[in-house]
Amino acid sequence: MTLMSGEQYVESIRKMNMQIYMFGEKIENSVDNPILRPSLNSVKATYDLAQLPEYEDLMTTTSSITGKKINRFTNIHQSTDDLVKKVKMQRLLGQKTASCFQRCVGMDAFNSVYSTTFEIDQSCGTNYFDRFVKYMQYVQENDLTVDGAMTDPKGDRSLPPSKQKDPDLYLRIVERKDDGIVVRGAKAHQTGICNSHEVLVMPTIAMSPEDKDYAVSFSVPVDAEGVLMIIGRQSCDTRKLEGSKIDVGNSEFGGMEALLIFDNVFVPNDRIFLNGETEFAGMMVERFAGYHRQSYGGCKVGVGDVLIGAAALVADYNGANKASHVKDKLIEMTHLNETLYSCGIACSAEGHRTKSGNYIIDLLLANVCKQNVTRFPYEIARLAEDIAGGLMVTAPSEKDLNDPKVGPYIKKYLQGTADVTTEDRLRLLRLIENLTLGTAAVGYRTESMHGAGSPQAQRIMISRQGNINHKKNLAKAIAKIEN
Ligand code: SF4
Ligand code: FE
Repeated sequence: MTLMSGEQYVESIRKMNMQIYMFGEKIENSVDNPILRPSLNSVKATYDLAQLPEYEDLMTTTSSITGKKINRFTNIHQSTDDLVKKVKMQRLLGQKTASCFQRCVGMDAFNSVYSTTFEIDQSCGTNYFDRFVKYMQYVQENDLTVDGAMTDPKGDRSLPPSKQKDPDLYLRIVERKDDGIVVRGAKAHQTGICNSHEVLVMPTIAMSPEDKDYAVSFSVPVDAEGVLMIIGRQSCDTRKLEGSKIDVGNSEFGGMEALLIFDNVFVPNDRIFLNGETEFAGMMVERFAGYHRQSYGGCKVGVGDVLIGAAALVADYNGANKASHVKDKLIEMTHLNETLYSCGIACSAEGHRTKSGNYIIDLLLANVCKQNVTRFPYEIARLAEDIAGGLMVTAPSEKDLNDPKVGPYIKKYLQGTADVTTEDRLRLLRLIENLTLGTAAVGYRTESMHGAGSPQAQRIMISRQGNINHKKNLAKAIAKIEN
């Protein structure tokens, strides 16, 4: 089987024996849990869409390892065309789910670990690349969802991993054995972890020789012994327990994050892809971050499309669609959203081949892409709230709407244009609330700020990649300055 159906995917997650904690309880069945199910549905969409002929070109490709048809989320990019299609696929999924569909983190980890292990082997005589290719074959043939794990808790940010008071604040090797290693630590903000089959761990920062035990990359199943996840709260999350489809805004889809704990987890040798080669930790981090900064030029744009559409629709429902300032705000939202997309496409089209043979984005343009993502979705959300009006945060609940005593008042007094029902108007306002302030706001707003690295991380990369000296020389040449 190289392509799973959505249903097969759901059943494959159901069979796993994950240790999941939420609201002070162990969750025995995450698949049918009302808070977690929408996030599973978003990942399921990456399988469902791959089955549809109209999306075959975007959602699937041919494996460079086996020659078989695979889901693009497990692809090792073979060209700039692959990089462009990746962004287009992410925009499509953002449009279809209006949330974070989680599976990109693994795809971005695959491609950074693939090229980095090749270069480690060349320099250190190790055999990580062959191991990783075998692992990728396993992932592709079973159409797995793998979560990429990078962000350590980091403790005191002024200290390197080995100088922290608590040595576990960066994930580390605590024991080396003949047949593998034992690791301890945590990875924070793990998108999609309870909807994944495997986790692929990478270091979180560039390291110096004394951080040897922290320079580690490996994969394990998410139900390996010693792995546990503590689900993060989202704004308005418990609305999902109330059973109201209107009040949640997006009843089918969502995202999830968790604090992922590795409590003395054994990793066998064939799953280790970096083990003490500190000089390559930075390369792995930089490449993963670059790919994931490219990703945001696709996924956030797709969610932005839904938000712009919702704002335009609510203007129709309010009878405000002919106002010139509303038209201008929709133009501004579109301009901002398409600017993000332009960056995603540009860093892909300008990508290049790595020594290993896979393709990587242009790092400067990918960082510019993500830097814009830390700003524009906020402005798009602000304009959507402006057009929506205050009712988006003061509207009564679905239960009141259906109440025999007060429901008729709501229907009468919260009516917009006569041709649209009050219920539809409220549905739309709840969607905008969900995207800007509710559970999806994690993915659309704050994740736009901090996901794939906070703004300052991109500014450091932009300063490194910007080549200011070249620009100085250009100015000197025009001004006829000799030295
Ligand atoms: Fe994919 Fe975007 Fe979610 Fe990252 S934030 S996993 S790129 S959908
Ligand atoms: Fe993310």
